[in-house]
Formats: sequence, C-alpha cells, structure tokens
Amino acid sequence: MTQLRFTQKGTKSSLRARNDVLVLQCVAAGGGRFSRTDVIRETGLPTATVSEIVADLIERRLVREAGREAQPVGKPRVLLDLDDFHHRFIGVQVANERITASRFTLNGHMEATETVSRPLDAPALHSVSEMVHRMAAPTPGRVTGVGVAVPGIVGDDGVIRAAVNYGWHMVSLGRELSELCDGLPVHVVNDANAVALSEVALSTDRVNTVVVLWIGTGIGAGIVLDGRLYHGGAFRSGEIGHIDIGTSLRCHCGLIGCLETVAAQPTIRGDATDQAVAGYLAGADDQDCRALGERVGRAAKEIARLLSTLAGTLDATEFILGGPIAGDPLGPPLMRAVNDLLALRVMSGFEQVVLRSSTLGTHSLVFGAAAHAIRQELGVVITMPAGAGEVGDVPAA
Ligand SMILES: [Zn+2]
Repeated sequence: MTQLRFTQKGTKSSLRARNDVLVLQCVAAGGGRFSRTDVIRETGLPTATVSEIVADLIERRLVREAGREAQPVGKPRVLLDLDDFHHRFIGVQVANERITASRFTLNGHMEATETVSRPLDAPALHSVSEMVHRMAAPTPGRVTGVGVAVPGIVGDDGVIRAAVNYGWHMVSLGRELSELCDGLPVHVVNDANAVALSEVALSTDRVNTVVVLWIGTGIGAGIVLDGRLYHGGAFRSGEIGHIDIGTSLRCHCGLIGCLETVAAQPTIRGDATDQAVAGYLAGADDQDCRALGERVGRAAKEIARLLSTLAGTLDATEFILGGPIAGDPLGPPLMRAVNDLLALRVMSGFEQVVLRSSTLGTHSLVFGAAAHAIRQELGVVITMPAGAGEVGDVPAA
C-alpha cells in the first residue's frame, strides 16, 4: 500500500497548509479504499474543510475519485485515491562517471530510466538537463519536480558547497539546472542522504531513524532522524571520513589517523588484482589473499566500532551500506565481518546492531532523489511497497 506521511516542512505555497498534507496523507494511506467520510474520521477535520481540501486536491490532480462502492442503504460511497496519472517526478544520480535519470509517478512507481557514462570533471549540467528533457518529453502527465543526488556537502539552497573527491566547489547546481530545464523546480540532495530517504520511503514505520554508511573513495553517512534528514548547522552532518581512529597513518586530508586511512574503498582493495580478489572470495590462502583479508578485517573492525558508537548515540539499530563499496565484490565479505563483530557487542537491553544492503540496490539513489523532490514540493514522504521500483510496474491509465 502506498502511503504519504506528514513531514514538518512543506515548501510549496499552494500545499503549505498542514491540513492539505494531512488529507493527502490520509487518502494515500487508504490505498483507494477511503471515502470522504473515512478521511473526516481519520483526520478529525471538519466535514466542510475536508470537502474543500479534497476538491482542491482533485483540481490539482493529486487525488482522484477512483470508483463507487454500493451501500446497503443510501448513496454509494465515492472512493478516493492518489491521482497517479498526472504528476511525475524525475530522480537523477550524478556519480562514479555516470549519470542516471529515472521518471516516477506520484506514488513512486518507476516508469522509465536511462544511464549515460561520461567523465565527471564538472557536475555535467548540460548532460543532466538533456536527460531531464528526454524523460519529461513522452510523459502523459507533467513533471512537477526534479531531485538530483550528488556527492559532497549540499546546502538547502541547492549549492554543492564542496565535493572534494571531484574537485567541485560552490556549484549552484539547483539554480543552474532549473534554468536549463525551463524553470522546473530542482532539489539537490547529498548521495548518502538520498539512499537514507529511499529507505525511509520504503519503511512502514511512521517514526524512523536510518543511517547510511557510504563507502567509496571517501566515507560519509546519510542520517534520517525521526523521518527527517539531519543536515547539521553547516550541512556537514555525516562527514565521518576524517574522524580520529588512532592510527599513525597519514590521510590525504593532511591529518593523521582518519577513518579513511583504513576503511575507504581504495584502501581496502589496496594493490589487490581482480584475480587476488577472486582468490580471496574463493577462500585461497596465498600471500596476496591473506593481505587482502587483513585489510578487510581491519576496516571491518573500525567500521564496527563506529557503528557501535552511532548506535549508542542515535538509538539506531540498523545501518545501510551504501556507495561504491555496495557494488564491489569486497562489499559482502566486509559486511559479514562487520556484522560478526557487532554480534559480539550487544549491550544489555539493546537490540542487535546490524549493517545491511539498501532495499533498492542500484535504484536507491534515483528513487531517493525523487522522494526528496516530492517531499520538497508537496511536503510529504512517499512510501511504496518493496519491488515497486522496477521499471514498468505502473498502473494502466
Ligand atoms: Zn583525513
């Protein structure tokens, strides 16, 4: 069942009112089985208010009358559902020499997706805008917003403050891309945060704390606290790659003993060839494989220690492994090693802390980016059933 949940922030003036969001949430939660009477009962809002808001939401093509249900006595009930045929949202992922764009309906079904490979010496604004135009052209509805997941520190003004590994500084991605896309609203989100949002959207819990551990060339975390992204005062929350783990190794940032000196993806892999990785995964015991195993073990130890700290600090029990390491053959053995260590450290009265893969895998970034755009435009967080992220799983219009 698709649901919409209230979040505190609605940024579009036409849907800013909390009551609008409450009604929209309620209709979506009803999954096509609620009438206006049910919405009145569920929201506690006055009859006239609900009638007015529903009429407004229907006019805005966010809600539709989805059929009638005969009653033993009196008039049939008119059922309400999300209007899944009009609004479209585009989620974009810019990372790892690739750009992926996917088009979603209002309740999170992926209609189309496209990936292009290109060097990302700049954020590739023109490539992204061309993809958005291609995604927007054939849709029978209208594209209401675009979400873009990018690496680095991202402000709520859509400016990438810094993406050190890409050499980007103060890139006004949101504004510039919006101009290239004929004024479409563009909402930019950090990549780890996008994965965290995708997990929230797939969760059935109303209150949700999700932490994504992002491991690639750098290490970061995406943190959703009680259903909302936690940005920090300067949008630097989750910048955990350079915390001190007490080694004597010098980091590329100039400091000594950073987490990235043992747990970044290139460090774990080291000089191991693909053959050595395959040997390690098959249980070979030569010198290269043993060295690789030691690096995986070392990284796992520090990651487990970090997750244990975060679990105690945030009252979180589940962590998601995201980023390039999630698609690396070394990802699964690293995750197993981390979980083996976490299993040894269950505090009395606490749940077992676990590190797991993201629910949507490679789709989690574009879906999270689209979920971010939907939240920014409509003030709601979509929830969709697992598996609905597959292309083509769209109701017939
Ligand atoms: Zn460092």
